[in-house]
Amino acid sequence: MSSAGFVIKLGGCVIVTGGNRGIGRAFSYALAKAGANVAIIYRSSPNAPDVADQIQKEFKDVKVKAFKCDVTDFENTLKTFKEIEKELGRVSGLIANAGVSVVKPALDLSTEDFRSVFGVNVLGVFNSARAIAKIWIERGESNCQGSIVITASMSAQIINQAAPNRPLTQVFYNSSKAAVRTLAKGLAAEWAKNHIRVNTVSPGYVKTDQTKELERSIRDHQADNVPLKRFAEPHEITGQALLLLSEQASYMTGGDYLVDGGQLIW
Ligand code: NDP
Repeated sequence: MSSAGFVIKLGGCVIVTGGNRGIGRAFSYALAKAGANVAIIYRSSPNAPDVADQIQKEFKDVKVKAFKCDVTDFENTLKTFKEIEKELGRVSGLIANAGVSVVKPALDLSTEDFRSVFGVNVLGVFNSARAIAKIWIERGESNCQGSIVITASMSAQIINQAAPNRPLTQVFYNSSKAAVRTLAKGLAAEWAKNHIRVNTVSPGYVKTDQTKELERSIRDHQADNVPLKRFAEPHEITGQALLLLSEQASYMTGGDYLVDGGQLIW
């Protein structure tokens, strides 16, 4: 990534969960551009290997490959991460980005909805972080310098309004993102002695499949409430994550970084 003379160069391999679509796809692209090998984790989208091939074609000096893995399953996640190290080389960072939402009024939410949202957004993030930390720590290096970035959300801090006096009904999503922020702080505290840094990036509204499903009137209302008056493009979220993965961020851990167009000013 290059902006106003500030260049972030990354080495090794970085794993991106949910790296085939939306914000994750932008992360995968930005990482390849910054010189990292990229392992794209996806759950079921059939076009994920094509996404990896497209990025690979553009950046021939790095290796980019898609790996199918459901991050709600720890053993499968650990096995996949070990396979990634064999195929793409030493992993230096992880972006735990896979996430899902269920939009329903609270009275209609089910136990299954809870399992779905918390299963990916909290347990899936924990499984991903635990798998890579296990690999790093068991390698027995006293100073592994690993960096884990988790995609949280500004909605950990605010309940979004769908329209005046009408909340956007996704309380499991909001609370899962609050949970994952605290999870990140706990892991940062626990793994600091191993030189593993853990931070969260909290985007505001971003143009992806997740927000495409909102009715146009709701989207317009929400964009109007953002000080910058628009939703972000996925690539606008990548700079902060790249910084956190880089050596320039060697003293940054346990933090949360908003990339929200100023939304939380209000
Ligand atoms: P998308 O809905 O576009 O993509 C979700 C990604 O997660 C897909 O790649 C999907 O894989 C993957 N995924 C879902 N479940 C699993 C699983 N169990 N195992 C492995 N991969 C899985 O998401 P966005 O790009 O919109 O969001 C990315 C992250 O950013 C999420 O954590 C989201 O909560 C967060 N966020 C999004 C905002 C937005 O406005 N869009 C705002 C703030 C935060 P597959 O394609 O195979 O299904």
